[in-house]
Amino acid sequence: MSETLLIRSRRMVVDDEVREAAAFVRDHRIEAIGDYDLRVDADRAVDLGDLPLLPGVVDSHVHVDEPGRTEWEGFASATRAALAGGVTTICDMPLNSSPATTTVDALRAKVAAADGQCAVDVAFWGGAVPGNLAEFPGLLDAGVVGFKSFLIDSGIAEFPPLSREELRSAMAALAESGAPMIVHAEDPTQVTTPSGASYDAFVASRPPVAERRAIETVISAAAFSGARAHIVHLSAAECAALISSAKAAGIALSAETCPHYLFFAAEEVPPGHTEFKCCPPIRYAVNREALWRALGDGAIDGVVSDHSPCEPSLKGLPDGDFRTAWGGISSLQLGLSVVWSVARRRGFSLADVSRWMSVFPASLAGLPSKGRIAVGCDADLVAFDPDASWEVRGTELLHKHPLTPYEGRTLTGRVTRVWLGGVEVTPDDPPRGRLLARGGGPLGG
Ligand SMILES: [Zn+2]
Repeated sequence: MSETLLIRSRRMVVDDEVREAAAFVRDHRIEAIGDYDLRVDADRAVDLGDLPLLPGVVDSHVHVDEPGRTEWEGFASATRAALAGGVTTICDMPLNSSPATTTVDALRAKVAAADGQCAVDVAFWGGAVPGNLAEFPGLLDAGVVGFKSFLIDSGIAEFPPLSREELRSAMAALAESGAPMIVHAEDPTQVTTPSGASYDAFVASRPPVAERRAIETVISAAAFSGARAHIVHLSAAECAALISSAKAAGIALSAETCPHYLFFAAEEVPPGHTEFKCCPPIRYAVNREALWRALGDGAIDGVVSDHSPCEPSLKGLPDGDFRTAWGGISSLQLGLSVVWSVARRRGFSLADVSRWMSVFPASLAGLPSKGRIAVGCDADLVAFDPDASWEVRGTELLHKHPLTPYEGRTLTGRVTRVWLGGVEVTPDDPPRGRLLARGGGPLGG
């Protein structure tokens, strides 16, 4: 038996609203939720007063890169950074680790690498690549939360893209399981070689139509197969109407965007600063505002980091070339503060942020005990000071590398305390994270 905890806050995110409440925790789970002055015996009581309490963030899009590219990022550093940023569950992408998680053996290698060094809970995506359909049942049995695929070159030779026909076949193979196919949606026929080294040339080479054509391909495959489809890292806001229309037609489709698309704009990317490079690219300010509207009206369902670091030398800094620099943005520890910094100015509440960053990603990954402060859910809780103002210094972050486009930016809102399964934890504590299978049970258990 673990000890019991009673935690009170006058601003707790419960049932999609912010209100006074108390949560009683036993055996790692929330057993009851009552009024702020709920009277119940507990081994430990915490009164946060006016400090908000949020469900831990579920970041369903993290490239941990271990094993194989552990010099880019690793389970120990990524999960400690996650914890510091209020992220209590991550779902690891099937690339850029090596091997990529496209076989059961590769999943075993990843689990062996992760085991014992995770500061937060970790689940795993499988990879769908040409020719690995036969691995799907084994990977699902072993507990992957779904499959990731590309329609365009991923940059990783062992993770080639699917053709339209292969996407349809892969989704047909998944339909019965209910597990989602999550897709990097850029159509290679609409992407060109940049005309120069500038950021504007890079953005022009990956236009919104590349996302739109690829999303049409995904919608068509979802309609054909009946499988659940999800668009990762949507950047082109004009696609929101297409996504809404597909949802209205009853197609099982969802979409995420990322903090960097909601925070930055192409106009402000300084020349040579390839730490801003990602695919699809950060677009212009007018697109950013349209992304916010799409989040507000539910066309876009969630916000996840797409934390994707690399060895800093691959960015070619200080005079980076956007044609050749490796793409990917580091932000796992920053996502909650970044999104809140800009959401609050647009009139959104902490309940909105939790819906995007906790509730939705948990549902996408099939983790029903995650992402909410609700009876029966894991007591993964984050105390968050919504008014704290602080400046990002990459060297103070727990990512493996300090390089981040948020360097020097002032953010509003900071994580102050974190509980994982009802136990208060800090990044310096021995790692308590568990490895999870789709459904929320232990991986390989
Ligand atoms: Zn990614």
